[in-house]
Amino acid sequence: MKGDTRQLGFSTRAIHAGQPPDPRTGAVAVPIYQTSTYVQLSLGEHQGYEYARVQNPTREALEQNVAQLEGGLSGHAFASGMAAIASLMTLVKAGEHVVVSRNVYGGTYRYFTQILERYQVAFSWVDSSRLDAVAAAMTPATRLVFIETPTNPVMDISDIAGTAEIAHAHGALLVVDNTFLSPYLQRPLEHGADMVVHSTTKFLNGHSDSVGGALVCARQEEAEWLAFVQKSMGAILSPLDSFLVMRGIKTLAVRMERHERNAAAVVAMLAAHPKVRRVLYPGLPDHPGHEVHRRQASGFGSMVTLEMGTYAAAKALLDNVKVLSLAESLGGVESLISHPATMTHASVPAERRDLLGLTDSMVRISVGIEDVEDLLADLEQALAKV
Ligand code: PLP
Repeated sequence: MKGDTRQLGFSTRAIHAGQPPDPRTGAVAVPIYQTSTYVQLSLGEHQGYEYARVQNPTREALEQNVAQLEGGLSGHAFASGMAAIASLMTLVKAGEHVVVSRNVYGGTYRYFTQILERYQVAFSWVDSSRLDAVAAAMTPATRLVFIETPTNPVMDISDIAGTAEIAHAHGALLVVDNTFLSPYLQRPLEHGADMVVHSTTKFLNGHSDSVGGALVCARQEEAEWLAFVQKSMGAILSPLDSFLVMRGIKTLAVRMERHERNAAAVVAMLAAHPKVRRVLYPGLPDHPGHEVHRRQASGFGSMVTLEMGTYAAAKALLDNVKVLSLAESLGGVESLISHPATMTHASVPAERRDLLGLTDSMVRISVGIEDVEDLLADLEQALAKV
């Protein structure tokens, strides 16, 4: 399509934003500019591209696309979700302080505690589903508030607008890791957040064939800093991966709708199943964050956590599924099932996992877009063996 995409609907932007037809050939798909450098016309005269760590047309197309989907000013694509988070954290200096959801992805916890604390950055780990806990943790040195909502894997829900208000009242910025829902279901910048982070490895790419990350900034200051960080630290996404993520995003809306429909059926079956102790899913009316989640998101996503009662029961379920695959990660077209305590959150110490309610009997499911009857039958037969 031609022209400005900013006023168009979500699916139209997902398909077209940042991706006008290639000016030279008319190609509808943005070419993979697999080049490290660009020939200059004469000394001091170039076409806006000098060196591929700094500028690459394929990466730029993805960055503009993600920025438009999240409603931000700038997008920045990185080699992984963790590379995006590492680059983001350059906003914080030694002696400063960060308030963070106590139950974030295990890799984020590992990076903050085992690497950034060595550089005299201080963290307060709070139950961010309680605004009073966030407010109580703020100090004059607080530079960032970093939340996940829903959290991985215990599904705590935080009030984005309320948290933004607290952060801003203390001169801090709010960052939301929106990986679990994608911008199709939740756009934190619309609720006052200053930045959004994604592991594009998950729903944005959606096909379990690329590792990547993205940041979207609402403000000029962070936009300029993060472009400088991409150039200076170089943790950028490759042209091929940028292409793959863009291709994935074109079907984000239809995938998310199917993910959600399948998740609703899986949750209904599991919630009524005698072998399942408890289902943690924000779409369940008795989930403590249900009302807050409904206010700030247009759907509940397809991440579902089960409390199986014992480790043996969890293991039996994990070992007996056939259509679902036992694997780390989430957000792909295929359904994945995992054991957070020993897989995604193994880097969180056991006593800390106890504090979070992240038990050894927990199982996490990323509900894919297969035929739902096959998923239900597979879970039924595996649960029969528990
Ligand atoms: N944030 C969340 C919520 C995640 O689940 C993950 C990975 O599982 C990450 C960030 C890190 O992303 P990546 O694995 O792409 O580095």
